[in-house]
Amino acid sequence: MSINYQFILDTIGDEVQPLLSRGKVAAYIPQLSTVPLQQFGMAVYCLDGRVYTTGHAYEKFSLQSVTKLFALALAFAREGDAIWRRVGREPSGNPFNSLSQLEHERGIPRNPFINAGALVITDILAERYVQSDIALLQFVRTLAAEPALDFDRAVAASERETAHRNYAIAHLMKDFGNLHSAVDTVIDSYCRQCAITMTCVELAKAASFLAQHGTVPWNGKKILDASSAKRLNALMLTCGTYDAAGDFAYRVGLPAKSGVGGGIVAVVPGDLAVAVWSPGLDATGNSLAGTMALERFTTLTTRSIF
Ligand code: GLU
Repeated sequence: MSINYQFILDTIGDEVQPLLSRGKVAAYIPQLSTVPLQQFGMAVYCLDGRVYTTGHAYEKFSLQSVTKLFALALAFAREGDAIWRRVGREPSGNPFNSLSQLEHERGIPRNPFINAGALVITDILAERYVQSDIALLQFVRTLAAEPALDFDRAVAASERETAHRNYAIAHLMKDFGNLHSAVDTVIDSYCRQCAITMTCVELAKAASFLAQHGTVPWNGKKILDASSAKRLNALMLTCGTYDAAGDFAYRVGLPAKSGVGGGIVAVVPGDLAVAVWSPGLDATGNSLAGTMALERFTTLTTRSIF
């Protein structure tokens, strides 16, 4: 059955309008609090190259934790299973920036998508590349076929100035011997990574290799083998949407990664990648309208992994 994606996206674009004033823009990174609330964009990138959009799908936004997906893909592609000696693969059941579990579990983060795990992944990349933030930016540029993608320096500086909790996490892991580079090096690189900006269209295209078993659909380049892509998608499903991953799986039924900038990218294996952005967050830190849009998308298209 052929699906009228454009009609479905337009329908969703209309349906979410009443939700746009309900969420809260992330304010703990001061620069993010300047983003106007009333925005919503969505883009579908099909594996055959068709692109469908609605709303502010060509507007740049701060990727924040969505970059953890690309950092993990790069580290996993380069280091393979060795990364699992330093970070786990279980949902944390705790807020993304929590310290308490890390103390009990002796500096080994539960998964690569909470901040502690992402800092370990950043450290792994810092050990391999002279400038790991640039290596990651290059990787994302290649995946999106967008050589002009960049960091937002004001957002990176704003996060760096207020990164007290991430510093605390990094120092705790350093004390347990699970951070090899200098804490400052890791935090600097992590803050720049989080400040990469992209549009929904670019993001959906960049993630499309995860829908095609690890191979970039438009140039055939293998980023991950099929087994590794499956594992990365499984981690997105179980850990990719903060402490709401269970509810997100229940409502949406897709592997996804969200960020406090209001972006969410999700994957329908064998079919497409879809990105949404709306800066108003719900209480769990996921985009309120973005989550609803993805829930409606899988309902209206009947495309999910279940
Ligand atoms: N840079 C943010 C932080 O570390 C990312 C948070 C997020 O998007 O989950 O707090």
